[in-house]
Amino acid sequence: MRTESTQDDLLGSILNRNRQWATRTAATNPALFPALAQGQSPQILWYGCSDSRVPETTVLDLQPGEVFVHRNIANLLPATDLSSLSVLQYAVEVLQVQHIIVCGHYGCGGVNAALANKKLGLIDSWLRGVREVRAKYEKQLVGLTPKQQSDKLVEFNVMEQVRSVLKNANVQEAIEERGLEVHGWVYNISSGECHMLECPEDPDAHVFTVKDPRKELLD
Ligand SMILES: [Zn+2]
Repeated sequence: MRTESTQDDLLGSILNRNRQWATRTAATNPALFPALAQGQSPQILWYGCSDSRVPETTVLDLQPGEVFVHRNIANLLPATDLSSLSVLQYAVEVLQVQHIIVCGHYGCGGVNAALANKKLGLIDSWLRGVREVRAKYEKQLVGLTPKQQSDKLVEFNVMEQVRSVLKNANVQEAIEERGLEVHGWVYNISSGECHMLECPEDPDAHVFTVKDPRKELLD
């Protein structure tokens, strides 16, 4: 158990590290903090998991100001979630990001909890979104080992969240008007690497089509 003094040690140490980082960064990149003080113009919106092992700015080797972020457990974008929808609208309409990346990660505790059917309290309501993805892809998960099921559900969940982003009217408009791109990625905690997922259009989505103006030019 942590005592009060070890807590103070931890926070004191973190504050020290923060000051050292600020000093070091200002020395190596003197223009950074003055530029950030003027505003932000990130090109990327990142939807990721809250997991402490997937800090997007660190794993993408980016600087402050380069990625606009929304993270929650299991990187979900429920159509009724005001928080993630507000981030999406602001990033697309105001910041005019060029890329939206939905990034899941293997070994996701939220996805594993949804697979395990354990009662965890309030979070069960949140994880309903993952359980719905699991139900949709049930046939593809049958016969796999628990690890394979978890990895596959992580990937299917990313695909479904990408589709959820693509159903958004602001996103559809930005795709048509200025070529906004939406991507599905998975992060591998064991290697530190991200890879892109193929996210085909949803055959079950009767109401939604995304027009890609560049494709029309090529046709
Ligand atoms: Zn996770």
